[in-house]
Amino acid sequence: MSILRVALDVPVATLFDYIAPDATEADTGRRVLVPFGKKQAVGIIVEVTDSSEVPAVRLKTALCVLRDLPPLADEDLQLMRFASDYYHHPLGAVVMSALPTRLRRFANPPTPRGSATYLLTAAGMALESSALPPRAHAQRRLLERLRQGPLGHAEARVLFPETLLLQRFVARGWIRAQETEAGKSPLPGATPAPELNAEQARAVAEICAQLGSFRPFLLLGITGSGKTEVYLHAISATLSADRQALLLVPEIALTPQLEALVESRFPHICTVSLHSGLSETERLEHWRAARDGRARIVLGTRLAVFAPLPELGLIVVDEEQDSSFKQGEGFRYSARDLAVIRARQRGVPVVLGSATPALETYHNAASGRYTQLILSSRIGAPPPRISCIDTRGDPLADGLSGRLLTALRERVGSNEQALVFINRRGYAPVLMCRSCGWLSGCHRCSAQLVLHLPERRLHCHHCGHIAPPPIACPDCGNPDLAPVGHGTQRVEEALARHLPGARILRIDRDTTRRRRAWADMRKRIQERDVDVLVGTQILAKGHDFPHLNLVGVLNADSQLYSSDFRAAERLFALLTQVAGRAGRGGTQGEVLIQTEFPHHPLYEALRQQDYRAYAEATLAERRQAGFPPFVHQALLRAEAPRLAIALEFLAGAARTARTINAGVTLYDPVPAALPRRAGRERAQLLVQSDSRQRLRDFLGAWHAALAQARATPARWSLDVDPLEF
Ligand code: ADP
Ligand code: ZN
Ligand code: ZN
Repeated sequence: MSILRVALDVPVATLFDYIAPDATEADTGRRVLVPFGKKQAVGIIVEVTDSSEVPAVRLKTALCVLRDLPPLADEDLQLMRFASDYYHHPLGAVVMSALPTRLRRFANPPTPRGSATYLLTAAGMALESSALPPRAHAQRRLLERLRQGPLGHAEARVLFPETLLLQRFVARGWIRAQETEAGKSPLPGATPAPELNAEQARAVAEICAQLGSFRPFLLLGITGSGKTEVYLHAISATLSADRQALLLVPEIALTPQLEALVESRFPHICTVSLHSGLSETERLEHWRAARDGRARIVLGTRLAVFAPLPELGLIVVDEEQDSSFKQGEGFRYSARDLAVIRARQRGVPVVLGSATPALETYHNAASGRYTQLILSSRIGAPPPRISCIDTRGDPLADGLSGRLLTALRERVGSNEQALVFINRRGYAPVLMCRSCGWLSGCHRCSAQLVLHLPERRLHCHHCGHIAPPPIACPDCGNPDLAPVGHGTQRVEEALARHLPGARILRIDRDTTRRRRAWADMRKRIQERDVDVLVGTQILAKGHDFPHLNLVGVLNADSQLYSSDFRAAERLFALLTQVAGRAGRGGTQGEVLIQTEFPHHPLYEALRQQDYRAYAEATLAERRQAGFPPFVHQALLRAEAPRLAIALEFLAGAARTARTINAGVTLYDPVPAALPRRAGRERAQLLVQSDSRQRLRDFLGAWHAALAQARATPARWSLDVDPLEF
C-alpha cells in the first residue's frame, strides 16, 4: 500500500499523509486531490513511501492522483524544499505559490492550446443564478462553473455537450469566446546582433566557458555599457547547447520591452514570460511551455525563479540589487539568492548583472566567490555629467530651483526631452495645518495619508484606507489646510505653470495602473510627443529614451540620513539608474541633483560615477560597524492588536532563544519602523551572527520551539536576510 506525503497550501509546516492504493513513485511531483477537513484540496505529492507515523485508522485516502500534467521534477522540488527550509515557510505554501493559480484548484483541467476559451462578461458576472429559470439546471451549472474562471473548449465539450447552451449565453452577452493563439504569425528573420566590444566579448567568453557547470558571475557594468547584449550572447550559446535560459528582471513594466528585444533576436525560439500581470490562462500556458521544454527562454519577475525548466542551462538576474527580488510579505524569499542556489543545484552558470550591485554581491565578487566581469565604457554617448544644485543658495519655488527650471527651459527650447525625477520615499503630499501642526494621519497606521489631487482624496499607501480631506483642521478648526511635500501631481502642476507650452507627462503608479497605459506612454515618449517627464521610481529602471538629455532629481536628501542602514546604498543605486537615463541617443546627458548637502561623500562618488570607490568605502564602514554583509541577520516579526502584546511575544521568544546555546547575537524587541499598519501594531526582534551556518542552525531550533509554544494572539514570522526594517 502506498502512502503519499502531500504538501498542501496551509499555514502549518507539516506534510500530510494519505493512502493511495494505485500510486507509484513516478507520481512524486504530481498534483493530487485529497479530502481535507470537510473540504477537498489540491496538493503536491512530495514523496511516495510505504509507511506513516500516523496510525492507519486515522489515515484518509486520496481521492485522485491528477496525471493530466507531467509531474514537477525532483530538482524543482529540491529547490522548493531548500527555500522552505531556509526561509522557514511551510513547504506546501512554497510549492503552491510556485504553481500557476489554475493548478492549485481541481475545477480546471488545463485547456488545450489553440481553441476557444469562454469568459464571463461584465453582464455575466452581474448575473444572479436566481435570475435564471428555476429548472434551467444546466444554465446554473454553467454559470457556477464560469464564476470559477475561464472555461476551456475541451472542458466545455465534456461538461456542457449541448453547444446551444454556450451559444445562448454568448447571444445574451453573458459570456464571450476568446480565441487562444495557436502559434503566432510567421516571424521575420532575426535582427542582427551588434558586434561586441572587447570587454563584452571577454565577458561572454568567460560565461560560455562555464556552460555546463556551476559558476556565479557578477557582471558589473555601468549603465549603457551593453549588459543586455552580454546576456543575449550568453543565452544564444545556451540555446545552441540545447539548454533553456532563465532571465529574471525586477519589474513587470520592463518585460514587454525585453520580450520584444529577445523575440526580435531569436524569432524562431519560443520565449515566454512569467509574471503576476498575466492572466491565469496565460500563466498556466507559459508555465507548461517551460515545463515541457517547449519554451527555450523564460523571462520573468521573481516568481519565475521557480519556473520548471527541465533543461536549464543558464540563469541571468538583471539589476540584481533591486529590492523587488525580495518578497516583502508572507514567503519572504530572495529570488536573486535562490537563483544562485538553483544554479548550484543544477550545475549551471548564473550571471548577476548591475551597475550598482548589492554590497552583498559585490563583497562576494571581491572575495573571489563570484567571478567578476567588468564593462567599463558606455556605448554611444559618453557618461552623463552629474552635478549638484545647492538649494541652500537657490531657494525653491514649488520644490523646483531656479537653476533646474532654467535648464529645463533650455532643453525644451531646443526640442530635447527632460525628466524630473521625484524620489518617492518620504515625499508625498500630506495635508497639514499650519497653525497647529496637525497632519493627516491614517487612523489605522502610523503613516500619513497622501493627498491625491484630481479626486481630492486622502489615501493611505500602507493599508489602502481612503478618506475625503477634512473641510477644516480637526484639531483647531483652521479652514486653511494646505498640502506639504511635493508629489508628482504637484510638481506636474508647478512645471506647467513655469514652462508654459511644454508638453508634460506624469508617470507614476497612479497613471500607469491601467494595463496598457505604460506601453502607450512609452510610445508617446519615443515619438517625441512629450517634452518633460515627471515621475518616480518606475522611470529609473532600464528604459531607453533616445531624446532624453536632462535629468533633474528632487528630494534625494531624505535618504542620506535615514535610520535604515541600507538607505544610502539604495539611493546610490537609484540615482545611478536615473542618471543612466540621460543622454542615450549619442549626446552627452546632464544630471542635476537638488540637495542641501552638495559635498556629501555619496554625491561626490556619484559625480565621479565611481561605484567601486563608493562600495569599498561603504563596505569598510559596514565591516567596522558589524553590519551585513559581514554579519547575517534574521528578523522575528510580530504583529498584534496592541503593541504590548507583540513586544511581550518577542520578549518570550528572546527568552526561548537564550535557552538555545548557539552563538548568535540577540537584540532587544523594538517597535517596527512603521509601528502601526492596517490597525495592527508591529514589532521586531533582530538576531545576527557572523556565521551563516550558525544562524541557520539557530533559526531552525528557534523556529521549531516557537511553533510548538502555546498559542499567542500575536501573528509572527521570520524574515531571513531582511532588507526592510
Ligand atoms: P545596460 O543594460 O548596460 O545599461 P544596454 O544593454 O541597454 O546597457 O546597452 C545600451 C545600448 O547600447 C543599447 O541600445 C544596446 O543596443 C547598445 N549596444 C550594446 N552593445 C553594443 C555593441 N557592442 N555595439 C553597438 N551597440 C551596442
Ligand atoms: Zn493606513
Ligand atoms: Zn490645526
